[in-house]
Amino acid sequence: MTAASSARVRAAVAAVVDPELRRPIGDLDMVREVEVDGALARVSIVLTIVGCPAAQRIEREVTEAAASVPGIGEVAVDVGVMTPEERRALTERLRAGRPARQMPFGADSLTRVILVSSGKGGVGKSTVTANLAVALAGRGLRVGLVDADVHGFSIPGLLGIAPGTQPTRIDDLMLPPVAHDVKTISIGMFLREGEDVVAWRGPMLHRTITQFLTDVFFGDLDVLLIDMPPGTGDIAISIGQILPHAEVLVVTTPQQAASEVAIRSGLVARRTGQRVIGVVENMAAFALPDGSLLDLFGSGGGAEVAAALSKDADEVPLLVSIPLSAALRAGGDSGAPVVVGEPDDDAARAISALAETIATRGRGLSGRSLPFSAPGR
Ligand code: ADP
Repeated sequence: MTAASSARVRAAVAAVVDPELRRPIGDLDMVREVEVDGALARVSIVLTIVGCPAAQRIEREVTEAAASVPGIGEVAVDVGVMTPEERRALTERLRAGRPARQMPFGADSLTRVILVSSGKGGVGKSTVTANLAVALAGRGLRVGLVDADVHGFSIPGLLGIAPGTQPTRIDDLMLPPVAHDVKTISIGMFLREGEDVVAWRGPMLHRTITQFLTDVFFGDLDVLLIDMPPGTGDIAISIGQILPHAEVLVVTTPQQAASEVAIRSGLVARRTGQRVIGVVENMAAFALPDGSLLDLFGSGGGAEVAAALSKDADEVPLLVSIPLSAALRAGGDSGAPVVVGEPDDDAARAISALAETIATRGRGLSGRSLPFSAPGR
């Protein structure tokens, strides 16, 4: 009875998923002794580093998993720390043979890299990107999100990541915080106090972005979204060089005045070899309670940008028109993305439809097989 129970407790505990590494702790060699003494289960586990931010959660879930085994009434969990050798073995396993210091999103990568750009700031690019990432993750895709919008690192806040949150470091691996199932990194997390990326010169920026895409360990991703700074500055050009196979979404508003700059940002992306896969119109007309539409920012901007980018090139469709929405704005302010908080809101529906289009359309003309794997992380 005892032997059988300890095997069952071990199996239950081994299935607990490390929230940062996103693998069962059994696979990560984190489960040590498991003993059952009557109704008492004693379980010892080891974590990667002292003060691992996920420690409390893992300990709680291990306790719950052990207690769920029939016959177990009490659980004692002992939490230890891996030795440097054990940690090295773990990081090697996580890299799955990929050498350290190699940028994993090169042309042969199976991850779709999608840059979200806009001509100017304030069109809702970051808000749309954060919600799109969450909506894609909700469809079972493995999603990473890089906040490269140096004019205001807003992605962590939009996803409810507490200010000051840093990636967890296991030796030279940096693990991105996970929010709403999205692995999220902001260049803002790498700046020293008072440092301002906007003032950096091109080569320094280039080096930093390359290093950043190399050193952060995202694991296998289906999609990596990058929230770009607005416009066509040094970062857009650098990312264009580092990720020439990336796809680009251009976000604009219905306002005619916004179109011009949005078109330019799409053309610059294309010049670096990237493919503009569509236009997203945000802040479009919304329905008043009496059913009439209020188009605060006019109309037609999205279609105009799409038409201009389709000239002399593959057709660039207007993928979606997202209405103005108080719920979308409020969800951004509180860090609870509207696509999960109020999925029936019109803007949430529009963003979910965009996620569906992107997920099902694949890379289209690039002629590569769909990188999406079955859900399961
Ligand atoms: P950008 O990244 O383009 O600078 P943000 O995502 O920061 O823009 O959005 C700017 C502001 O507009 C934010 O306060 C955001 O909540 C709000 N916003 C974005 N999209 C909408 C929308 N469809 N309806 C209402 N408010 C929106």
